[in-house]
Amino acid sequence: MADSPLWKAVLGELELATSKANFKTWLKPTKLISLDNGVALISVPNIFIKNWLDNHYKGQFLDAFQKHGEPIKEVRFEIEGSPEAVLDDFSDAEAPVVEMAETQATEAPSTILNHYTFDTFVEGNHNRLAYNVSVSVAKQPGTLYNPLFIYGGVGLGKTHLMHAIANEITQADSKKKVLYVSCEQFTNDYIQSISTKNMEKFKKTYRTVDLLLVDDIQFLSNKEGSQEEFFNTFNTLHQSKRQIVLAADRMPSAITGLEERLSSRFGWGMIVDIQPPNLETRTAILTSKCQDRGVVFPQEALAFIASRIQSNIRELEGALNRAITYCQMMHVPYSLESVQAALSGLVVPINRRTSSPESVIRLVAQQFGITHDELIGTKRNKELVYPRQLAMYLLRNELNLSFPQIARELGGKDHTTIMYGYKKIEKEVPTNSLYQQDLSILKEKIQAAV
Ligand code: ADP
Ligand code: MG
Repeated sequence: MADSPLWKAVLGELELATSKANFKTWLKPTKLISLDNGVALISVPNIFIKNWLDNHYKGQFLDAFQKHGEPIKEVRFEIEGSPEAVLDDFSDAEAPVVEMAETQATEAPSTILNHYTFDTFVEGNHNRLAYNVSVSVAKQPGTLYNPLFIYGGVGLGKTHLMHAIANEITQADSKKKVLYVSCEQFTNDYIQSISTKNMEKFKKTYRTVDLLLVDDIQFLSNKEGSQEEFFNTFNTLHQSKRQIVLAADRMPSAITGLEERLSSRFGWGMIVDIQPPNLETRTAILTSKCQDRGVVFPQEALAFIASRIQSNIRELEGALNRAITYCQMMHVPYSLESVQAALSGLVVPINRRTSSPESVIRLVAQQFGITHDELIGTKRNKELVYPRQLAMYLLRNELNLSFPQIARELGGKDHTTIMYGYKKIEKEVPTNSLYQQDLSILKEKIQAAV
C-alpha cells in the first residue's frame, strides 16, 4: 500500500504544498496502511507527528486523496510499531532519553551568508542602536550582551545583522563554532531527534557551539516541547558564556504563547529594535546597493524609489533590481525617467488593494501558531479568543466587512458576538501597546500578502 502509485501521488501533492523542512519532518515518515469504507489509515512513527498531522494536515491529505480520484471521507493517523515509539509527554524534553538506535543525523546546516556583513549594512537612525550593539557583540561575544535580542518588522535588516555578527566572529577566529538556524529549523531538528531517537546528537549540535543565532524566534509560540528544549539549550550555552543572538518580529513580552521563563531570559542581555528607515536612510541604502552592483543612478532617481517604497528594505531592493533590469533590457539610460517607467506597474496605492477574508484568517492563525479551525471555532481559551477578536477587528477595518459577513467567515457565529469582539479590541487599542503591535504586524502582513 505504501508503495502504491496513489500514495506516491498524494505525498507528491503535499510535498509541493509544503516547505522542504516540514515535508521531511512530518510527511515523509508516514505510510499508507489501508483504504476501507472511505477511511484512509496512515501510520506515523510517534504521537508527536500524529498530533501535528491531526492539527495541520488532515484537510490537505483529504484534498489530495480526492484530487487523485479516491473518495476518502476521513483520514486517520495511527502510531506504528512498539509501545516505546509512543512518547506521551513531549513537554518534558528530558523524558525521551534515548538509546542510540540506528542513527539518522540531526541536521542543522549552518548557512552563514557571506555577503551579509557589517560593511554592506547601512547605518541610520532607525537601526543605530541595533547596529552598534551587534558590532560590540561580535567583538566580545559572550561577555557584554548575552543574549542579544533584535526585534523589528519584516525586511528591516534583522537577519542581515545576525549574519554580520556570525561573519565577523568566524573571520576573527575560524575555529569558533557558529550555528545560525531559523526557529523552524530548530523545532524540526528537535522533533526529528525525538522521532529518530537521536537526542544526543541534537544536544551535541546545539549545546557545544560558541555562537548560536536563532532567527524568527516568535515561532516558538505555543510549541511547548520545543520551548522546553530551547530553555535547556539556552541555559547550557549561557552558563558557559557562549553568545546567543535571537531575532523576532516583536519584543519578547509581546510574543504570546511563550513561557515566562523564556521571555524573561530573552531580556537578560540586551533588547534592541529596528524601526523602518526614514527617506534619507532609504536613499543611502539604495546608493550603497548601487555601488555594490556597479551601477550609477542620479540621486533624484534613487530618491524617487525611496519615496515610493517606504516600509521595508527588502522591497526597496526589489524595486531597485527591477529598475536596473528594466534599464538593461530596454537599453535605456539609468535615469529618473527610466525608473518611473520601470516602477509604474509596481507602485499601487495601498488603499486600492484588497485582501481576502481567508488570507486575513490564515495570517492571524499563523501569527499566533494556532490552526484555522481553532481560530474560527468556539473554544473560549484566552490563547484563542484574543486572536479571534483581532481577526474580527481586522476583517471589519481592513476589509470593510459587515458584522454578519464576518460572522459567516468565522464559522457562522452570531453577529452580536462579532460586535462584542470588535468593540473589545477597539476599546483596548488606544492604550494597549501589545494590541497595537500585534495589529501593526498583522496589517503589514495583510498588505504584503495582497
Ligand atoms: P529581516 O530579517 O528584518 O526581515 P533582512 O535582514 O532579511 O530583514 O533584510 C532584508 C533585505 O534588506 C536584505 O537583503 C538586507 O541585506 C537588506 N537590508 C536591510 N537593512 C539593511 C541596511 N541597513 N543596509 C543594507 N541592506 C539592508
Ligand atoms: Mg529575517
